[in-house]
Amino acid sequence: MPIAEVTATVTIAANVVKALGKLGAYAEKQRNAEINGAIIEVQSLVMQLQEQLLRDRAAHDDLKRQHRELEESVRTRRDAFEWRENVFWEKATGAGPYCPKCFQEPQIPRVARLAEDRDGLWYCAVCTFATNSPELDRRLAEAAAAPRKPRPHEDWLSR
Ligand SMILES: [Zn+2]
Repeated sequence: MPIAEVTATVTIAANVVKALGKLGAYAEKQRNAEINGAIIEVQSLVMQLQEQLLRDRAAHDDLKRQHRELEESVRTRRDAFEWRENVFWEKATGAGPYCPKCFQEPQIPRVARLAEDRDGLWYCAVCTFATNSPELDRRLAEAAAAPRKPRPHEDWLSR
């Protein structure tokens, strides 16, 4: 619920409590204990409602603050890292590669550094992201371009 609506609802609840107070004074003047008791009960419920709204507003403010912090954290990351070779690298130090999938998750406090397996595949230990390193891409391209050597049995068949 937007904060202006919560504030308006709290104000309405306060006015209802005030109106019930007037009604209670009238019931007392009329010496009607039953109506007076019902009014006191409604007054108590409205006050509980008002307190709940104030708690909701505090929770809402807290969520808004968290949201601002997460946005700030994403902005800071965007300023500190650069995108190259399908991964992120620290601008200041050139350190990396860092996981692009974790980068997009502001609730992950640190961007995960990618590990490299012995074939040259970069992978993230935090999430499932994996990509070829430029070195692996280069080796794969070389292997695809190299002329294929005939296997021993193929050599025998051609004789
Ligand atoms: Zn990751």
